[in-house]
Amino acid sequence: MNNPKNGFYGEFGGKFIPETLSYAIEELNENYEKIGKSEDFQNQFQSLLKEFVGRPTSLYYAKNLSDHFGGAKIYFKREDLAHLGAHKINNAVGQGLLAKLMGKKRIIAETGAGQHGVATAAICAKLGLNCVVYMGEEDIQRQSLNVYRMKLLGTEVVSVSSGSKTLKDAINEAMRDWVTNVNNSYYLIGSVIGPHPYPLMVRDFQSVIGTEAREEILKVEKKLPNYVIACVGGGSNAMGLFYPFVEDKDVNLVGVEAGGKGVDTNEHSATLVKGSIGVLHGTKTYLIQDDDGQITETHSISAGLDYPGVGPEHSYLKDSERANYVAVTDQQALKALALTSNLEGIIPALEPAHALAYLEELAPSLGKDQIILLGLSGRGDKDISTIMQNMSL
Ligand SMILES: *Cc1c(COP(=O)(O)O)cnc(C)c1O
Repeated sequence: MNNPKNGFYGEFGGKFIPETLSYAIEELNENYEKIGKSEDFQNQFQSLLKEFVGRPTSLYYAKNLSDHFGGAKIYFKREDLAHLGAHKINNAVGQGLLAKLMGKKRIIAETGAGQHGVATAAICAKLGLNCVVYMGEEDIQRQSLNVYRMKLLGTEVVSVSSGSKTLKDAINEAMRDWVTNVNNSYYLIGSVIGPHPYPLMVRDFQSVIGTEAREEILKVEKKLPNYVIACVGGGSNAMGLFYPFVEDKDVNLVGVEAGGKGVDTNEHSATLVKGSIGVLHGTKTYLIQDDDGQITETHSISAGLDYPGVGPEHSYLKDSERANYVAVTDQQALKALALTSNLEGIIPALEPAHALAYLEELAPSLGKDQIILLGLSGRGDKDISTIMQNMSL
């Protein structure tokens, strides 16, 4: 089940793609199996992770926060310390290297908040590849700093003015470009979404997070954590952290989604908690859609969680009850962000602030002998102006 050749996780996943993309997807699939698993690739990938990304990232005992809640011992896996301040670079490096070894000279990517765009722009600069990033017009206005960063890194940013002018429209445009330019171009997707093999490949590249964390916690605590928790947008940081623990049946996996203004309003992005099954961007998974199967608007204070779909492997983990998914609101996330900043001297991004918010319920309910491992997917610098607008000090 965990390494599906046909790309299905139970009933989820697959490759629901137009005929025009089938050559590109097949070529990618074959090359990922051949080049991606080769020793040469693995050696180059490991050295980029070490020297360019700065891995391994640390495992950090959040003692003050643990004492504050008075229950379980809380550890953070510090992806905020990775190059550019988030986990996205792990996947960008893996796919960028694969593209280069496949002989592709041009990289296409989509971005919402701009974090994946910046990570992709950076690895393209490093590997000498041309890069085009599609970004919704709305997002370009909201995230001007990241647009500038991408340009500084030598990337062309293309504004997308169709649909809601946000991430899902940028993905549509990126796929359109790929169909037209498949000979020289590689589509570098930013999360565990899209048609097979993307969800598998992105999970493999991100699972360095969980592999390191598992080794580190075994070293310091001599046992596995009782809970592993992470925020879920598309689901890549959570899948990367969860995956090495999936076979450890005593380890509880919890994904925290964006409850926005409340899961009983229409303004949230809690895809697994509130969504229904459908097909989007080439994969069968839970979605936020109306009764006619049209994707509806989502909301989250955190741009990185504001996506109407979710990786198909999460849908499988949910329905098989291997993982549990919950949602917290914008307000809860902000409060947890402030608490973590105050107690630990770490300003987290708004996305992992959602996972941090769930600690308030989870940590005090557990004994002091219990361990929680939390994926701190990124740092808060990118969110400071949003935080300022929503929280006066
Ligand atoms: C993009 C992003 C996320 C959400 O994406 P996933 O694929 O769900 O991991 C979470 N945290 C940070 C810091 C991000 O930049």
